[in-house]
Amino acid sequence: MEHNPDTHSLKCPKCHHGMHEVTHGEVVIDRCTHCHGLWFDEDEAHHLKGLLGSEALDIGDPGEGQKWDSREDIDCPHCGKPMEKSADHKQKHIWYEYCPDHGIFMDAGEFTDFKEESLLDWFRALIKGDRSVVAP
Ligand SMILES: [Zn+2]
Ligand SMILES: [Zn+2]
Repeated sequence: MEHNPDTHSLKCPKCHHGMHEVTHGEVVIDRCTHCHGLWFDEDEAHHLKGLLGSEALDIGDPGEGQKWDSREDIDCPHCGKPMEKSADHKQKHIWYEYCPDHGIFMDAGEFTDFKEESLLDWFRALIKGDRSVVAP
């Protein structure tokens, strides 16, 4: 859907279509109506990661998300400054864009990956007996 400031909360930084608000529990994030990328304000992604069933917000096709993953020149939907691309410090294969002042953008499928992988990592650490790892 073309971005319309009256009906959409944000303009998608990747495909420039409209984003609308979706909620999980008390957390509100923005999801693109076209590429299904997700925008998380500040640390909402980490907050949601710990909530049961939050991956249901990530309805997009990961194959579609990967197409957009290579797009690099994206600007923050809040301040318009170029966003920085960063790998998650625990899961190096996940690349997301972030604005240090506003939040992060994940392509479709990345949040599910972000959430599941960390659970797997946690179980692996548990099996190895690494007690320093805190449950997500
Ligand atoms: Zn989009
Ligand atoms: Zn910003």
